[in-house]
Amino acid sequence: MNQISTIVCLCCGEKGTSVVWAKATDLEYRTTTDEFDIMRCNSCGSMFIHPIPLERLSEIYPSNYYSFAQSQDSLVHRIKTWLDKRYFRPLLAKVKGHNLSALDVGGGAGWELNVLKEADNRITHTQVVDLDPDAEKLAHANGHEYFCGRFEDFSSDSSFNVILMLNLIEHVANPLEVLEQARNLLAPGGIILIKTPNIDSWDARLFRHSNWGGYHCPRHWTLFTMPSMSGLVQRAGLKVIEASYTQGAPFWTTSVLFRMEKMGLVSITRERPVVYHPLFGLLSAFFAGFDFIRGMFAKTSQMFFILGKF
Ligand SMILES: [Zn+2]
Repeated sequence: MNQISTIVCLCCGEKGTSVVWAKATDLEYRTTTDEFDIMRCNSCGSMFIHPIPLERLSEIYPSNYYSFAQSQDSLVHRIKTWLDKRYFRPLLAKVKGHNLSALDVGGGAGWELNVLKEADNRITHTQVVDLDPDAEKLAHANGHEYFCGRFEDFSSDSSFNVILMLNLIEHVANPLEVLEQARNLLAPGGIILIKTPNIDSWDARLFRHSNWGGYHCPRHWTLFTMPSMSGLVQRAGLKVIEASYTQGAPFWTTSVLFRMEKMGLVSITRERPVVYHPLFGLLSAFFAGFDFIRGMFAKTSQMFFILGKF
């Protein structure tokens, strides 16, 4: 028998409260054919991968991983920039100060920090923390400071007014430690922005046993609900200023393409992962619209949190 009684929930830390919810593998990038258990914690409602492939980072993040290979001038990229700027502007207006500093955890070449700077010209100091040594040069060229390593190991003499953790917290082995580190680096009156999948959504249930895109298996290690993330935030000594659901188009698209592959309609390979499939952009646009409407009355599969200090 497996040792379910000793498995610790990555979100709430409770031991022995988890059951196997689904099994999943890497259909997106085909880096491994190993099957992973997606555990559900009955105590907090979060899900997490088991076992955590902690020693396999170079294997499970291939060189063609989408965040390493972002095309700067594609239409999708330009639309995202425009939307992000529109999203950031009113948030930044709430942060007081003449000169602001911003930190992007897992920010790669600092593309999102470029957008932040465009949204608010008070941002004068920008810092990226990322594991990718190849992004350092580009980040410097973009005018950002760069720390290559784990966020937990990063230290700074100055604090930050804005900390971005977009699609980051679900990738780490110890989300509580990461949030505590963010709290320590946050300036008084500053904000932390988090974007993360929502496991308590229709598509997560619909594609539960067929590699739901939000599993992003085996790279998403913890999947939260709004209440479970709020609990974690409080344990880290932070408060939720605002929480909202946002569209989960990439998860719908990925899940649907997996289904279509099973039906023999499309082909996904290690050389051409699902995110590079010709139908990906079109389906994403469709599901963004679909979720925009659905989001008016239902929980969609991604969440935004704005956090602050007490
Ligand atoms: Zn839990």
